[in-house]
Amino acid sequence: MAHRITLIPGDGIGPEVAQATKMVLDAAGVDIEWIEKKAGGDHIHKFGTPLPEETLASIRETTVALKGPITTPVGSGFGSVNVKIRKELDLYANYRPAKTLPGVPTRYKNVDTIIIRENTEGLYSGLEHLVIPGVVESQRIITEEGSKRIIRFAFELARQQNRKKVTAVHKANILKLSDGLFLEVARRIARDYPDIEFEDAIVDATAMRLVMDPTQFDVLVMENLFGDILSDLSSGLIGGLGMAPSANIGESYAVFEAVHGSAPDIAGKGLANPTALILSGTLMLHHIGEGNAAKRIEKAVEKTLADPSNRTGDLGGKAKTMDYVKALLKNLEET
Ligand code: ATP
Repeated sequence: MAHRITLIPGDGIGPEVAQATKMVLDAAGVDIEWIEKKAGGDHIHKFGTPLPEETLASIRETTVALKGPITTPVGSGFGSVNVKIRKELDLYANYRPAKTLPGVPTRYKNVDTIIIRENTEGLYSGLEHLVIPGVVESQRIITEEGSKRIIRFAFELARQQNRKKVTAVHKANILKLSDGLFLEVARRIARDYPDIEFEDAIVDATAMRLVMDPTQFDVLVMENLFGDILSDLSSGLIGGLGMAPSANIGESYAVFEAVHGSAPDIAGKGLANPTALILSGTLMLHHIGEGNAAKRIEKAVEKTLADPSNRTGDLGGKAKTMDYVKALLKNLEET
């Protein structure tokens, strides 16, 4: 029976990378019935909202979605659709692996980290108000329950994937109450996993250590904003935002998307690197029990990127999105 998957192309480079990903997943022979739904600022005139109820209803029905990036207006305008989807579906764990592929030129050869970002709390609570003119307050929410479930998720994942170490990243020296709570919960939960090494690290020092030597890290768990920033940093260690996939996981639903945003500077030009969303697609295939197809695609991606003539501009190459996809489809046939 076909897997029913909700597909949200998004905006900016979203439709281009979503189309590329759909072509690759379909070519891998997985029987997928794509249910395409809209979201983003371009659809407000029709639905009265950037996140139509029918889009959310489709994810609730299929339980799995593949999503292109959606632009969030800066400073004013509607709130982030990406954040709203995560909150509405309680997708509390954002899984962001950063792994160097042998063919891609990078500063480090053997990066293999996973950032687990808490996806529903922190400064993304969106609770902001004007105290008096010229003074604005934003609330950063850390709860014991939210910390417990994300830290446990990180340890369980480390155990399943035979990982050696979990690092809890925080700023508890300054944010003594909120990050103090996060750190206390992490230390408590770590005792249930004596087979996995545990350390804690302050976020600014973690940024420096990631740049100096990313191989000292394995699984890192942290609150929302720290995870947003350090996962973009980590993508820079493996070739850039065009290479970094992610999964948003909750108890009932999962939404797979690239770490990058809508990249308006290159949208509509056929220049985007679709690898991040294609690899998000392979995370999705693992999730729905199609691991063999996922591994074939991963191998074909490696082989394709090993040839410099297939690389898009962000990787220093000249290939356009569809040149890369054509080469990838050919390699997939042979894999
Ligand atoms: P957001 O804050 O919305 O998540 P971001 O900070 O991740 O966005 P993007 O717009 O995704 O920012 O990316 C920043 C820049 O990186 C883009 O303007 C573009 O030049 C480059 N970039 C991002 N994704 C890709 C991609 N898939 N292919 C090529 N270049 C990309």
